[in-house]
Amino acid sequence: MADCIFCKIAQGEIPSTKVYEDDTVLAFRDLDPQAPEHVLIIPKKHIRSVLDFGAEDGALAAHILTEVVPQLARSLGVDGDGFRLVTNTGEDGGQTVGHLHFHLLGGRAFAWPPG
Ligand code: IMP
Repeated sequence: MADCIFCKIAQGEIPSTKVYEDDTVLAFRDLDPQAPEHVLIIPKKHIRSVLDFGAEDGALAAHILTEVVPQLARSLGVDGDGFRLVTNTGEDGGQTVGHLHFHLLGGRAFAWPPG
């Protein structure tokens, strides 16, 4: 999508600090980290939010959750003590970038409920 910053990051038009990449998924460090480890995991194709996953995206969703997240948690060293995986959705969910992304946060303990 032309005016989407995460599409531009996925296409290499905006620089990012990549921590994982394959044909369909990119993970890069958040510009404004909220924890010692704060990574954004995105599908390379434009999907606005988790509400916009289509039936054809089942393999992509499974890939992110069953392969990318565990692999990243291990490579970031947060698999032992734990981490938080969040996808903010829509205005009340606090989504500010309209391209689906999963925040993987770790390296400290988190409170619940979130603010
Ligand atoms: P949201 O508020 O859940 O939509 O999360 C958007 C996240 O994207 C925020 O944590 C921002 O700090 C982060 N962000 C925005 N622009 C960039 C960028 O260009 N590079 C890396 N992270 C970004």
